[in-house]
Amino acid sequence: MLKPNEVFENATLKEDENYKFRTYLKIHANPGELDKQFKRLHQELFSEYDCSQCRNCCKKFKGEIPKEDIAKDAAVFGLTDQAFIDEYLNYEETDDRYQTKNCPCDFFDEEDGSCKLGDCKPENCKRYPYTDQPDRLSSMLSILGSAKVCPVVYEILERLKVEYGFSGKSGKKIYPNDPCPCGSGRKYKKCCGR
Ligand code: SF4
Ligand code: SF4
Repeated sequence: MLKPNEVFENATLKEDENYKFRTYLKIHANPGELDKQFKRLHQELFSEYDCSQCRNCCKKFKGEIPKEDIAKDAAVFGLTDQAFIDEYLNYEETDDRYQTKNCPCDFFDEEDGSCKLGDCKPENCKRYPYTDQPDRLSSMLSILGSAKVCPVVYEILERLKVEYGFSGKSGKKIYPNDPCPCGSGRKYKKCCGR
């Protein structure tokens, strides 16, 4: 797994390859099967990953606070709703939503990597990077964007490429007797392609 500070550069270098992989999936993947693969890899990788050592998603985005969360979030700081909005949020009229004033998110605690909203953190933050959600095939563009932020998303894409026998360099199918792209030195059919 890449370190958090390595993700942006590596994913940027792989941008063309990742777009080709998206096209490959659009043509070859079964949407339901792909959702199951994403979910399996999401569960497998996040079960071993300590997000508190990363927090790229809090450092690289503003927080999005749903209107219905404002009262409970304001209570976390002992503020009235309006004082909380004035202190931390901007209203985005075009999207009818509140965002934090700053990036990194104003609720990111740089001392210990936690979210100052605790259990009240927005549902969209709890669900990020959404790789266990349905309809991943139609969300591939946003997944490619998340691969520049989240080491787990980057790794999921790399593992999917191997599972689909997608060769990054050529963008072509890997055949059973080809060398496995994982670098084991074995034939693809005897390794990841089993
Ligand atoms: S969800 Fe991804 S980007 Fe966010 S902290 Fe966890 S590993 Fe890092
Ligand atoms: S609200 Fe909390 S979890 Fe969401 S981006 Fe901000 S610091 Fe991170």
